[in-house]
Amino acid sequence: MDEHKENNYIHDSNVSVKNNMMSNTTTEEQQEKPCSRICTVTEPEPTLDVSESKGEFSDPVYKEIAVANGHINRMTKDELRTRLEELKLDTRGVKDVMKKRLKSHYKKNKLKLCADAGEGGGGGGGGDTYYDYICVVDFEATCEEDNPPDFLHEIIEFPMVLINTHTLEIVDSFREYVKPEVNPTLSDFCVKLTGITQEMVDEADTFPEVLQRVVLWLQERDLGTKYKYAILTDGSWDMSKFLNIQCRVSRIRYPQFAKKWINIRKSYGNFYKVPRTQTKLSTMLEKLGLTYEGRPHSGLDDSQNIARIALRMLQDGCQLRVNERIHGGQLLNVPSSAPMEAASPPHKPRSKD
Ligand code: AMP
Ligand code: MG
Repeated sequence: MDEHKENNYIHDSNVSVKNNMMSNTTTEEQQEKPCSRICTVTEPEPTLDVSESKGEFSDPVYKEIAVANGHINRMTKDELRTRLEELKLDTRGVKDVMKKRLKSHYKKNKLKLCADAGEGGGGGGGGDTYYDYICVVDFEATCEEDNPPDFLHEIIEFPMVLINTHTLEIVDSFREYVKPEVNPTLSDFCVKLTGITQEMVDEADTFPEVLQRVVLWLQERDLGTKYKYAILTDGSWDMSKFLNIQCRVSRIRYPQFAKKWINIRKSYGNFYKVPRTQTKLSTMLEKLGLTYEGRPHSGLDDSQNIARIALRMLQDGCQLRVNERIHGGQLLNVPSSAPMEAASPPHKPRSKD
C-alpha cells in the first residue's frame, strides 16, 4: 500500500507555529472537521469471509467459519436477535453490528476449540500479548465559530478514561483544565460549545504543568512499565493536531508515549464494515444502540462515551490495536499487519530549548 498517498501532511518543522497552523488546518480540515471528523487513512482488518479462506487461512477451521458467516449474512434482523438472545449476547445495535457480534462469537469459539484441541488455527493475537489497558483521551481546545484557517488552537481540557481490557470495565479517570497562554480569553462560542468557562481556565495551570501530572498519573498506575497500554482517540486530531500544536506553543518536545494511538473511527469502520462517513461519535453510539451520556464537547464526557464504544467493540470481539502514529510531524498509518505496538513508558515533559 502506498503509505505516502494516505498520509496527511501536518507540519514543516522549519516554519513558525502560526504558519504551521495554517498549512495544517487547510489540509486536515478538508478531511476532518471537528464535528464530522472523517479519517481518510484506510487499513482493512482481516475478516473471515469466504474469500479469505485461502492462503494463510487455509486451515479447515476457516472454511467452517466462512460457512457460518455465510449463514449469518443471510439471517434477518429478527433471526439475529433470537440467536443472540439464545447465546445470552447483547441484542442492541443495527443489523450490521448484530451480524458482526454473532460472527465474532462463532469465530472465537471455533478458534478456541481448535487451540484447546491442539489443532493450531491461528487466533488473531499474532503471539503478542494484548494491552492490559486502553487510555481514552479527548482534548478540548480554544476555538471560534468556523475556526479561521490560521486559528491557533490551545488545549483547555485534558481528560483521560482508563479501560481495563481484561475485566472490560472503565476503572479510572482523570481531568484537568488547562490555562491557554497565547490567547487566554475564551470566545463566547468556545464557552458555549465546551461548557468550559473563563474562570475554569483562569484557575488552571498551563499545559506543561498539567502534562507533568498526567505523566505522574500514568506512572502511578504502572502504565507502560508493568502494564501494556495504548492511547485511544476519536479521530486523528487529538494527537496529530491539538497535542502537536500545543507542544510547539509550550516549547516542549512531543511526548514519546503519545506518538502512537488507536483511532477508534478507523477501527470501528474496519470492524463493522461501514464507510468513514458513519464513524462520527454520535453515529457510532446510535448504531451500537447506545445514547450519549453527559454533555457533548465536555472532554471527560466525550472520553467516557468513546470508552463505552471501545468497550462494546472489545465485547464484540474487535481487537482494538494501534493504527496511527506521528513521526517527524507527519501523521502515519500503522498497518494491521504490523506487530502489536504499545505506548512507551510516560516521562516528564522535556523542554525544547
Ligand atoms: P470535540 O472533541 O468534538 O469536542 O472537539 C474538540 C475541539 O474541536 C473543541 O474543543 C473545539 O476546539 C473544536 N471544535 C469542535 N467542534 C467545533 C465546532 N463546531 N466549531 C469550532 N470548533 C469546534
Ligand atoms: Mg471532545
